[in-house]
Amino acid sequence: MSNLDRQATPSVCGGRGFVVAEPVRELLAPRRVQLGESTEVRRLLPNLGRRMVGAWAFVDHYGPDDIADEPGMQVPPHPHMGLQTVSWLHDGEVLHRDSLGSLQTVRPRELGLMTSGRAISHSEESPKEHARFLHGAQLWVALPDAHRHVEPHFQHHVDLPVVTAPGLSATVILGELDGAASPGTAYTPIVGADLSLTGGAETRLPLDPDFEYAVLSMSGEAEVDGVPVLPGSMLYLGCGRTELPLRAVSDAGLMLLGGEPFEEELVMFWNFIARSGEEIAQARNDWEKGSRFGEVRGYDGARLSAPPLPTTPLKPRGRVR
Ligand code: MN
Repeated sequence: MSNLDRQATPSVCGGRGFVVAEPVRELLAPRRVQLGESTEVRRLLPNLGRRMVGAWAFVDHYGPDDIADEPGMQVPPHPHMGLQTVSWLHDGEVLHRDSLGSLQTVRPRELGLMTSGRAISHSEESPKEHARFLHGAQLWVALPDAHRHVEPHFQHHVDLPVVTAPGLSATVILGELDGAASPGTAYTPIVGADLSLTGGAETRLPLDPDFEYAVLSMSGEAEVDGVPVLPGSMLYLGCGRTELPLRAVSDAGLMLLGGEPFEEELVMFWNFIARSGEEIAQARNDWEKGSRFGEVRGYDGARLSAPPLPTTPLKPRGRVR
């Protein structure tokens, strides 16, 4: 998915300064963002209160939307740099095309993992024949400096490891959870997991005390460390935890996001993650003149143009504002 915010402003984040070293329970409210004509998403990261969780730098939750009589998701070709995109669905399907020639339908509980490295472009759309409901999350992972210029690549994994406990089924999307590792390529110590809880379940999830964590609610009624988290909200949990108490009032779907706090300061603008305003300006310029990011073939429509760069210089603001 693309950041379609026309008033895109650059932001600087990363660094250990604002990582909470001990367990906390900090509820992050979503910001509603309109994507195209028919899709509204709830943006959890970056958030007024927090910009990153580990290397997770962008989290949108969308749906469930009834798109039976609608085109559904229609995100025209757009570029990425310095990040990975993770497509994760609970309902429906997304057709991914990219400048490497990938053409892949991603279905519920399959991992669509695109590593932009130095440059890639892609489009995402609901196929013409699609399921009635569309429900999912779109996430970005910041690449560390040592790997941010890697060759772009796209991975699709349908067979992800699952960790189970009574009332809990946890699919490991990225990184490692309780000894089970995702086949998706990760460049920093990280975890992303889909937690499916049955109503009435009470369980504890093993965590790494060196990681910081957050839990996004996708559906149902659940309590995370005693805090009710409604669908479309995210609870930031800080570091220093060895386990996480979970309780499901009804059947519930959650996403656990965590990782080693991201040490490097980085600059985010539109669909780019860089280390300086100059790099951002160069990438924007390259996309606008049609170089470096390749070409997406087969998408029925025009590609996105980049929003204007702001006239004000970048101001480092850290991991929280
Ligand atoms: Mn995208």
